[in-house]
This record gives sequence, C-alpha cells and structure tokens, in this order.
Amino acid sequence: MRIIFFGPPGSGKGTQADRMSKRYNLHHLSTGLLLREEIQKNSELGKRIRKIVESGHLVDDAIVNEEVFSKVKEYDRFLLDGYPRNLIQAEDLDDYLEEEKKPLSGAIFITIPDTEVIERLSGRLTCSRCGFTGKQPMYHSGDACIRCGTALIERNDDRTEVIEQRLVHYHDLTKHLEKYYNDRLLIIDGMGTVDQVTLRLEEALSIWE
Ligand code: AMP
Repeated sequence: MRIIFFGPPGSGKGTQADRMSKRYNLHHLSTGLLLREEIQKNSELGKRIRKIVESGHLVDDAIVNEEVFSKVKEYDRFLLDGYPRNLIQAEDLDDYLEEEKKPLSGAIFITIPDTEVIERLSGRLTCSRCGFTGKQPMYHSGDACIRCGTALIERNDDRTEVIEQRLVHYHDLTKHLEKYYNDRLLIIDGMGTVDQVTLRLEEALSIWE
C-alpha cells in the first residue's frame, strides 16, 4: 500500500497517519517533520525554510520534492503526510512514482470545519522530534514529550494569524487536489474522538491492503 494523507492543519492527520502506518506497516513520511529537521540543522537551506514555514507559506516545490523523493526511493510501502500540498507536487509525485514503478494506491482526505481547526490549533504544543501534539493546559511548554522525551514547544506557525494564513493556502490549493485524485480519493470525516476517526480510516484503508 502506498498512500497520501491530506487535510487542514489540526485535522489530526499526523496522529492518524502514525496509527495507520503502524497498523498497515507503512513507512510514515511527514514533510512538516522533515522540514523542521532541516530547520534544526541550522544550515543555509534550513534558515531559508524557517522563514517560509514561520510566515505560514508553503516551501518551494523543488525543495520539498527533493526531500520527499530521496526518502520515497528507499521504501516500497509508505504513507505521505502533508505532501503533496498542491497540484504541481501531486503531478511530480505521480511522474516520479511511475518512473520507480511504485504507483499510489490512493489518497485520504480528512475533513474538519475551519472553526474546529482554529479551536484545535490554538494552545497546541508540539514535539519537534517526533511530531506528538498535546493541548494546553493539559501539557505545558517545555514538558517532556510522552513519546520520546523531547521538550514540547508552541510552534510559531500555530499562532492565530499564521493559522488563518495556513487556512487560506489550504482552501486555495487542496480543492485542486480533490479534483486531481478524484477516483483515487477517500474522504474521511475527522470529527469525533481520535479512536472514532481511527476506526473509519481502518475500514476505509482495508480496501487497499
Ligand atoms: P505541517 O506540519 O504539515 O503542518 O507543515 C508545517 C509547514 O511546513 C507548512 O505550513 C509549510 O510551510 C511546510 N510544508 C509542509 N509540507 C509542505 C509541502 N508539501 N509543500 C510545501 N510546504 C510544506
């Protein structure tokens, strides 16, 4: 199985992608995480990426494609989380996978309303190492991540004005993805408890297993 996950920020796609990759033995690749790792290296590229990510805009397709393709090459079964984010990336990915003779099984689109996105992201803390997220006041900035022990931080791009900017991009770009994946697309309702969404996904993904 080779699938992509997309949905608005805060739709729970990271958490669900993590669960599905374990359930179906898929290599989980999150572009958000790959880019944050690059930022942490503080390389010239990392500094360039930091500026873009912190402003809530999308990183250049060429940079992201290179990060993704170099990883995808190594695995036969994978789940891409946060990529592709636009039509160009989607077409480039299909072209690349065709060359590699590893076509996508399909795309999963997790949906939640905008009001829910803002509610979920405000006060969210993230582990910069493994991507785990928790909400204040249950978790505090600087607390050790319950999965890997790294300190939890408030991401700069989880500030309200940046969330709004991310939503604008999301609506503008993902409508093209819905159309593009059309007959390879499964739409999953992201509302409800994490376990409820997991059950919906497990059932949906079983068709590609
Ligand atoms: P995420 O953790 O998926 O919400 O991504 C955090 C940020 O990383 C986004 O707001 C973008 O700036 C950048 N990013 C992640 N994935 C991509 C992508 N596929 N294309 C361009 N930028 C991306």
